[in-house]
Amino acid sequence: MAGSFTRMIAGRNGAVLLASLGAGTMATGFLMSDNPLAAEVRTKLYPPSSDFPDLRKHNNCMAKALTPAIYGRLRDKITPNNWTLDQCIQTGVDNPGHPFIKTVGCVAGDEESYEVFSELFDPIIKDRHNGYDPTTMTHPTDLDASKVFTPLHEPCIHLLFFNVLKLFFFLASFSNLQITNGVFDDKYVLSSRVRTGRSIRGLSLPPACSRAERREVERVVVMALAGLKGDLAGRYYGLQDLTDKEQQQLIDDHFLFDKPVSPLLTCAFMARDWPDARGIWHNNEKTFLIWVNEEDHTRVISMEKGGNMKRVFERFCRGLKQVEQLIQERGWEFMWNERLGYILTCPSNLGTGLRAGVHVRLPNLSKDTRFSKILDNLRLQKRGTGGVDTAATGDTFDISNNDRLGKSEVELVQMLVDGVNYLIECEKKMEKGQDIKVPSPVTQFRK
Ligand code: ADP
Ligand code: MG
Repeated sequence: MAGSFTRMIAGRNGAVLLASLGAGTMATGFLMSDNPLAAEVRTKLYPPSSDFPDLRKHNNCMAKALTPAIYGRLRDKITPNNWTLDQCIQTGVDNPGHPFIKTVGCVAGDEESYEVFSELFDPIIKDRHNGYDPTTMTHPTDLDASKVFTPLHEPCIHLLFFNVLKLFFFLASFSNLQITNGVFDDKYVLSSRVRTGRSIRGLSLPPACSRAERREVERVVVMALAGLKGDLAGRYYGLQDLTDKEQQQLIDDHFLFDKPVSPLLTCAFMARDWPDARGIWHNNEKTFLIWVNEEDHTRVISMEKGGNMKRVFERFCRGLKQVEQLIQERGWEFMWNERLGYILTCPSNLGTGLRAGVHVRLPNLSKDTRFSKILDNLRLQKRGTGGVDTAATGDTFDISNNDRLGKSEVELVQMLVDGVNYLIECEKKMEKGQDIKVPSPVTQFRK
């Protein structure tokens, strides 16, 4: 744990450190604390057993992992930012389940939450990330978009058919080493999107940040984004500066996050001071977008209409690398460590934070009872097209990778591409009255 605190100090230059000492309660708290490991014990009137939440009707990862013994050991600890276990789990206590997805049930208030409360977070991470063990495993990062969609990339047997297809397209397009396997048929795929999140080291995360810290995130990010050039050049729109109508139009067009109506957000203290210091930055084409201070400090998004996931991912990697460089040039850095990858508010997003998804029409397949099993085996998640809190209506779904941690960005996008191709193949077969097969499960981690 000491490692991350040292990194916090070492990770930025002196000028910025001084600035953050003025604004950031976290940095101040840490530097002045007698106990830099922050395992301070507060004396409370009642014992932990009297405080243990009633989780009997709950169906989230936190409820499964939290035992009275763990609660007893962690309840009175605090992070350098005075963040507690009870604050981490409040959203999971107040929201026993979600109608459409299995939720995690806890959030981090700062980078150190994952270390101070690791006895709870580690099993939750292992459960949510399909067996990834943060105590023994390390997370790979790979933002080289040229590696995706190359022939014979994916070793899974059930995708052999697509590898043959890849090879065919590869040979057919001899003038170009990139193949077209990542370009879906627009008849089925209406839009393609890749997003991730990034957090600014040294500032508390949205559940815990003060107004000053939130405004500091906005200042740092907006200043850096002004350096984007060419097709990525754009501008920032603070929510305060947008009319209700303009905001609603951006939401309806799928560009902007919803107002904080979800109890998952409100119970995690993320709607405080809304809309102060929240906003959206986008390029002129609205194909590269950055959300500021929603669930994470930043969400970086590449999207466009149609099925060209290949182009979307290329823009995503290029833009994200430039954003990181611009942030670093100003003396800041993203929260990251080798066990957990990029650190984000929700444990479900640790690692890559990457959700690559398409809005795809599957009128036949979606009515088949095997649809859910096929998605599970391909490690894909289904959402409604209005976002995570919406039910799927009609034949169109948001289909995205389910995993974030333990696999690289390139691997996850390749998995999504192969999976969506499989779904479209099934849909085409069903149109012709042919039978389909449930694929065998994709192997999770390479040994
Ligand atoms: P996230 O995981 O990025 O927070 P949400 O499910 O909360 O995603 O959705 C946020 C917004 O992004 C919603 O308006 C949703 O419709 C839009 N969105 C998600 N995936 C796509 C996609 N493939 N094409 C177009 N819009 C999308
Ligand atoms: Mg969301």
